Amino acid sequence: MLIVMEKGVTEKEISAVVQKIERLGFKANPIPGAQRVAIGITGNQTPLDPEEFESMPGVKEAIRVTKPYKLVGREMKGEDTVIDVRGREIGGKRLAVIAGPCAVENEDQALSIAELVAKAGANFFRGGAYKPRTSPYSFQGLGEPGLKILATVREKTGLPIVTEAMDPESVSLVEEYADVIQIGARNMQNFSLLKRVGKSKLPVFLKRGISATMDELLMSAEYVAAEGNYRIMLCERGVRTFADHARNTLDLSVVPAVKHLSHLPILVDPSHGTGRRDRVAPMARAAVAVGADGIMVEVHDHPERALSDGPQAMYPEQFAELIHDIRAMAPLVSRTF
Ligand code: PEP
Ligand code: MN
Repeated sequence: MLIVMEKGVTEKEISAVVQKIERLGFKANPIPGAQRVAIGITGNQTPLDPEEFESMPGVKEAIRVTKPYKLVGREMKGEDTVIDVRGREIGGKRLAVIAGPCAVENEDQALSIAELVAKAGANFFRGGAYKPRTSPYSFQGLGEPGLKILATVREKTGLPIVTEAMDPESVSLVEEYADVIQIGARNMQNFSLLKRVGKSKLPVFLKRGISATMDELLMSAEYVAAEGNYRIMLCERGVRTFADHARNTLDLSVVPAVKHLSHLPILVDPSHGTGRRDRVAPMARAAVAVGADGIMVEVHDHPERALSDGPQAMYPEQFAELIHDIRAMAPLVSRTF
């Protein structure tokens, strides 16, 4: 249930509502919003009686929430969530472009790619220090030394850093060095990891699981929000289907579907979504056209030498051309870039 307070409500009236919720044995979640003060109730197994709250001073109305995801749903919060990352917004009017190699391989590689993508117009840098690989014999990432390289990249280029954490220990390290914690597709339903990042001060970039439905993605986001971290951005990165012409099937129709049900920003990763560099730009443009809040793309200056995901890494010139297109498209979808 969502308790919407009157304009000009007093602190005392708010805390009376919170206390009542807690007395009933449930959790009171203040919902951040520009327009109004609202308090979400979670933890109740059966519907509550709106009357119980509507009779309290300062309460405008009590609304039943019908969806299983409450905190991340539009029923609880109508307006879009805009996440500020070091002064750069995700989810607002401006499109976010997160670019960089699949993995941080060494300082020279990371820095030279970062300089190229920054010059082209990327506004965030990505690169994995912890890599979830299908084979245990493949490159697993540099670990903490890789995070240190990412911190150097931020220092030299000013680009905020998005990087993956695979377990609670790596979350603590990522928190020390980076700006956004990525949860990869394989970990979308790693609930203990979701609870851990829910306690983090950093925003979370949550990728859709390889065979996850939209509801499952939103429920995973709910795990993060339920721990108090509302700064969540979702990412469509392709799901597994019978289609075998691409690495995955990029499900762009999930973008408007998520926008309808949730206030969270959603980005699209056409690199993992297609697995081939010649497919990345068309699908990135399509992502912008369907209303995504941004894109995440893999770029490498020497893809043939990349330690992971070389075949899908764009050449820097291809990336610059894509940025050029996105800049031209942005006004058509009421965005800026
Ligand atoms: C990545 O972004 O490098 C990655 C491993 O993505 P995903 O979790 O979507 O496979
Ligand atoms: Mn990759």
